[in-house]
Amino acid sequence: MLVKTLSQSQPQVLPYRGRFAPSPTGPLHFGSLVTAVASYLEAKTRQGHWLLRMEDLDPPREIPTAADDILRTLENHGLQWDESILFQSQRHEAYDAAIHRLRLQGLIYHCNCSRKKLLERQGGSGLQIYPGTCRKEKHKPSSQSAIRIITDNQEIGFEDRIQGYFGHNIGQAVGDFVLLRADGWFAYQLAVVVDDAEQGVSDIVRGSDLLDNTPRQIYLQQLLSFDHPTYAHVPVVANQKGEKLSKQTSARAVSDSAPNANLFKALDFLGQQPPAELVRYELRDIWQWACQNWHLDKVPKRPKIALDV
Ligand code: GLU
Repeated sequence: MLVKTLSQSQPQVLPYRGRFAPSPTGPLHFGSLVTAVASYLEAKTRQGHWLLRMEDLDPPREIPTAADDILRTLENHGLQWDESILFQSQRHEAYDAAIHRLRLQGLIYHCNCSRKKLLERQGGSGLQIYPGTCRKEKHKPSSQSAIRIITDNQEIGFEDRIQGYFGHNIGQAVGDFVLLRADGWFAYQLAVVVDDAEQGVSDIVRGSDLLDNTPRQIYLQQLLSFDHPTYAHVPVVANQKGEKLSKQTSARAVSDSAPNANLFKALDFLGQQPPAELVRYELRDIWQWACQNWHLDKVPKRPKIALDV
């Protein structure tokens, strides 16, 4: 198999198509706002489109009101998306079709390993690397089996526009990974690749917690003959304990009543050095300043602690 290192340090030429892809597992927190602002500014300052995709792929983890809450907060902050929103819950046929294409290449298999069995085998150290147990078993599909993709032992790397080079051997770093979960829901890795291709996304700006997912996504893009977007992973926002803001760490929802202050804080977090008086401007004027002064190369690399968010 051809596996190459992508050289992506240079922005691609127009048309630029960026996206923001929240999961409706809770309301928008400051970390997601930072990602939305960065992807929006990069798209707008490159005369591109900014698309929105609702990653409602995992109903057991979702909160029924979260998608609407996220959309309202984005709008209240002046983050207006182009084109219609793509909902992953309506895309199951496309994910099935991608699995079918991979099946024709002989690259997928059914896996009956339970979470418990995997944990026991790995001495309880987590589910990081799948040891390939079911690869040769030729299990028949069943309602309880997951579908995994065969990985190989070559390095897949790419040049991130913020983080620099990142790469690993996915066979050794994660092993054959899941495309369809045993509980019947499609896996993020598959859906994100199929939908970035469907939406013609040319440039991805997202949180650095997803950096080590990217080689798996590039691998799937190669197998499905999709174009490779460029990547820029912005630092995640951490709370005072150094934990990434998330639903699990009880991150607070971004307040809809203070969009100016929130946007100012996001620009500050992103290293854009907004002048102090900007916080008193109208929201429209803050956006105008942001578009005129946005520089991706000022965005810091490392996770940062944000106070009072
Ligand atoms: N849905 C993912 C999240 O909310 C983001 C996926 C992506 O940007 O690739 O963390």
